[in-house]
Amino acid sequence: MAFISFPSTFIGTNVKAASFSRRSRSAVRTTPIASAVPRNANLKKLQAGYLFPEIGRRRRAYLEQNPGADIISLGVGDTTMPIPEHICSGLVGGASKLGTEEGYSGYGAEQGMGPLREKIAQVLYKGTVKSDEVFVSDGAKCDISRLQQVFGATATVAVQDPSYPVYVDTSVMMGQTGLYDESKGQFEGIQYMQCDAENDFFPDLSKVKRTDLIFFCSPNNPTGAAATREQLTQLVNFAKKNGSIIIYDAAYAPFINNPDVPTSIYEIPGARDCSIEVNSFSKYAGFTGVRLGWVIVPDELKFADGSAVRDDFNRIMSTCFNGASSISQNGGLACLEDSGRKEIEDLIAYYLGNAAVLRKTMLELGFKVYGGTDAPYIWVGFPGKKSWDVFSEILDKAQVVTIPGAGFGPGGEGYLRLSAFAPREACEEACKRLRAMYAGVPAA
Ligand code: PLP
Repeated sequence: MAFISFPSTFIGTNVKAASFSRRSRSAVRTTPIASAVPRNANLKKLQAGYLFPEIGRRRRAYLEQNPGADIISLGVGDTTMPIPEHICSGLVGGASKLGTEEGYSGYGAEQGMGPLREKIAQVLYKGTVKSDEVFVSDGAKCDISRLQQVFGATATVAVQDPSYPVYVDTSVMMGQTGLYDESKGQFEGIQYMQCDAENDFFPDLSKVKRTDLIFFCSPNNPTGAAATREQLTQLVNFAKKNGSIIIYDAAYAPFINNPDVPTSIYEIPGARDCSIEVNSFSKYAGFTGVRLGWVIVPDELKFADGSAVRDDFNRIMSTCFNGASSISQNGGLACLEDSGRKEIEDLIAYYLGNAAVLRKTMLELGFKVYGGTDAPYIWVGFPGKKSWDVFSEILDKAQVVTIPGAGFGPGGEGYLRLSAFAPREACEEACKRLRAMYAGVPAA
């Protein structure tokens, strides 16, 4: 059914309410009427849908054509293991308190519960950040979008290429970019910092133009690369030289094994006056559905006019956010107790065990394989092939869902991301099927 433009008589203020509602009700039944509101031009610029729903759509389409297919997902990167006992008891305790007169609480502080902010600062940052620099939230994805609001439409942005799609998509939504350039697979106005096997997945900063913001994710989604102390020192020096602000996404920090890889940007001298850090309990406490994250905005971080970035972030949080759920925050407190930390260690060891299984298989099949040792993602090279074609071929022949590298930016073309967030048996079965597909080893 075609949409028609809004009749001008409906827009006038002298239309009687009763006749308006009678007419509009009947119009809704017969012909959809477009509003008079122009579509947000920035949203119009976005390509297709967000990557992960698109993967879901293709999976459903495959299932429609092949009902009953036993699909294994090494795709979206959602956690699969249940929340461990001690952490879960924190959530349950938080919920139970709400059912009692003495324990009930309504709205909390937009910045989070004091004891949780304190614990994050002490336990995770060993005192290198102060509790009032910690803003507790409903997760890192939402925080990235709120940070974009802090800097606004005129901010210029650099991203790793490939990268977690939220940095680019929220930049487009905010109006920081021009149009999508089909030939390059890039948005005009964004600095794409190439990260590939040739540069050890760390950008050659001598080729990167100055931007206001630099989104940097380590350990990286999707490549699984984790930047070393020396590399992060280069990044901090680059930001300071240019007066840029790094938005450092450390959502996978606890997966780091390599002692030469910092778990926070604030381990790098000088980072406090040029970096914001986002983090989240999603990937290591199984909180993808619970929702709990945080942002660190150090006092020293200032805008060009000398005002504190922290104050503006606080203003955004107080206006656009009403505090993380008290239940989640009680779960967060349990995560940071000794028993909770042990449970998190065990969860991470499990997922990294999966990563080792996937890595080994892909290496034995002769592929170039990256990541998977300090991150739950394996990045596999398929040089000369279109990653969406490889995605479709693997779904078709092995019924395994992966993520095509091109979904993370043009720099991801020719690669595939495998997620270690799956039950061990599913990983092992997926490996059997991949061996059958690529090496002719029977899957049975
Ligand atoms: N940052 C990165 C790099 C991610 O990969 C993800 C989720 O996949 C997020 C942030 C989102 O985390 P949250 O669940 O806290 O919103």
